[in-house]
Order: sequence, then structure tokens, then C-alpha cells
Amino acid sequence: MKLVTVVGNRPQFIKAAAVSMPLREGNEELLVDTGQHYDDELSTIFVEELGIPRPEFELGIAGGSNSEQTAQIITALAPLLADQRPDAVLVYGDTNSTLAGALTAAQAKIPVIHIEAGMRSFDRTMPEELNRVLTDHCSDLLLCPCETAMTNLQLEGLAARAEMVGDVMVDVALQMRPRAAANTSVLELAGVEPGGYILATAHRAANVDDPQRLAELVELLLAVEGPVVLPLHPRTLARLEAAGLLGRLEAGGVKLLGPLGYIDFTALLLSARAVLTDSGGVQKEAFIAGVQCVTLRDTTEWTETVECGWNTLVGLDRDAALTALANPPSSARPAPYGDGHAAALVVEAVARFAA
Ligand code: UDP
Repeated sequence: MKLVTVVGNRPQFIKAAAVSMPLREGNEELLVDTGQHYDDELSTIFVEELGIPRPEFELGIAGGSNSEQTAQIITALAPLLADQRPDAVLVYGDTNSTLAGALTAAQAKIPVIHIEAGMRSFDRTMPEELNRVLTDHCSDLLLCPCETAMTNLQLEGLAARAEMVGDVMVDVALQMRPRAAANTSVLELAGVEPGGYILATAHRAANVDDPQRLAELVELLLAVEGPVVLPLHPRTLARLEAAGLLGRLEAGGVKLLGPLGYIDFTALLLSARAVLTDSGGVQKEAFIAGVQCVTLRDTTEWTETVECGWNTLVGLDRDAALTALANPPSSARPAPYGDGHAAALVVEAVARFAA
């Protein structure tokens, strides 16, 4: 089977790290990098570090509004798909690249395979939620990371196209854990001791684009009993600089780093006392690692992490965050996202789909 896989941002490169190599054993795959994350720290670093095949096509599309970006990717992908004539297009997750890839393929009558299908935060104000719903409804094979996703798809009338495979990010997390656990240099760089710091990430539009919300985020981070280590997403760095808030974080003792490679980031995650984040992937990785997570959002698509007490949703409520951090979880953690063999199940599902 000839597949075109569309990726564009950090978590999609990480997911491709699990899937591309096993997929290429029995199929031809062409990787398209839309350029949605144009910083090397958010894209090519993962190609080098995680052994992802170098993308065969680079579309170089970045910046602009969500609509502009989606439209530009569609415009660039349509002739590429017409030229390459793949048997299917594979997309991951919930970004503009995901929706653009799925829609362009569906319009060209090329079957669409969606990995990480069925996730819902039920918050339609999030651009990612719109991308998830629309992508699922124009896909032909929906590969789900957990039973909740299967149920969500059933409720939307999509059960016949859905299959449970588990979460490919768990595959990467478990494969990379020994390398990350052996890496102490990033803790030295940040000047922190194992178990003695909070790891924070923030980049959601809802938290960083509005200066008032950004200021609340900064106050929350400063209120946390630290040290707090904050590897800054380029978007967040730009917003902090524009709002004149970067100095306030530095003066308050927050340890600012640039965006990290996966191994460095995972090393910090594994040894953190807790994680503060608005990232979907990081919520889940904290859960898999058995690290308490406090999520800077009011909703999450990774509901299982909240139900069993390992993740608390606090929005930007400083007091709620401090209360959550003062009450670390003690309950058992189930394994709703699989056991690290999701990529093999993806390859099997793709083979059955092709037959
Ligand atoms: N990550 C990373 N370096 C960092 C921060 C995060 O490699 O400095 C990884 C993290 O381990 C996870 C993924 O990036 O696998 C999450 O990406 P992000 O937060 O950008 O996206 P989201 O999951 O919110 O869509």
C-alpha cells in the first residue's frame, strides 16, 4: 500500500516516531511536513533524535490564522496528492495539518486513516476540538487510543469505522524511558534535583494569546512553591516578550529553558515532583510516568487521567492549582492507553484496511 502521511507539529513528529518505521516494513510511506511548526526545536530535532524518516516533502507553510494555515496546506497538498496518487492518507491528532490532510484526501476520494481518533474535550471553542470532530467525520479508518474514544465515535454514528489500537505516544514514552532516565545533564542545566521541582509547559492559544490570561498564567507560575522549570514554546516566548512579562518570570525565579528535545524533556518529566501543563500530550505522559499532573485548562480529552485522580483541571485558577499540588494522588493508575504496542496494531489495522 502507498501511503502519504501528513505531519506538521511537535506531537505529530513524536507519534510518527512510533509508526513510520514499522509501517514502512510492508508499505511505501511518503512523509509530508507541512511546516506548521517551523522551528527546528519543534520539528527536525525529533527526526534526528527519535529516528523518524526525513520527510520526503516539506511544504513550508507556517504562520497566519488557523483558517489561513488550513487553507494554505490544502492548496499545497491537493496537487501533491494528485501527483503521488496514494492508496490512503494518514493523519495524526488534532492540528490544522490533520484537518487539512484529511479534507484534501477526502475531496480527492482518497481514503483517510486517522490515528488518535475519537478524542473529545467537548469544548468547541478550542481549534483542536473542531479539527478532531471534522477529521473523524471525513476519515475512513478511525484508530482510537482508548475505549472512551471508541464510545465517543459510537455516539457520533462512526462505530463501524472505529478500531481500538491504543496510544502510539505510549509506545514512544516506554521505548525512550531508559535513555531519558539515564540523562541527568538537563537537570544539571536547569539546576534542579530529582523530585525537587515542578515541570511546567504552556502554549494553548486560550492561555497565551490574550495578555490578561497570560498575566494570570504568569502569576500562577510565580505562586507555585518551586523551583518551576519552564521549557518555553516559541509561541509562548513571543507572547511573553510582547506583553513585557518575561522579566517578571525570570525575576520570580522560574527557570526558563528553550524548547527541549524529547529525551531531555522526558528526563525532566520523569524526575519532576509534579507537572503543570496545558498540553494534551504532556498530561498523558505524566500519567504514564506516575507523575502528578495539574492541567491549566477547564476541560481535557484525556478524561481517564482525571477520573482516577492523577490529573486535576484548574484552568488558570491559582488557588485551585496550589490546592491540587498540595494533595498528590495516592490512587492506583489504570492503563487505558495501551501497553506500548499500539504501532504494531496500527500496522495490522492498515493491512486489513488495504485488503
Ligand atoms: N515535548 C518536547 N519538548 C518540550 C516540550 C514537550 O519534546 O520542550 C514533547 C512532550 O514530551 C510531548 C509533546 O512534546 O510528547 C507535546 O507536545 P505539545 O505540548 O507541543 O502539543 P500538544 O500535546 O499540546 O498537542
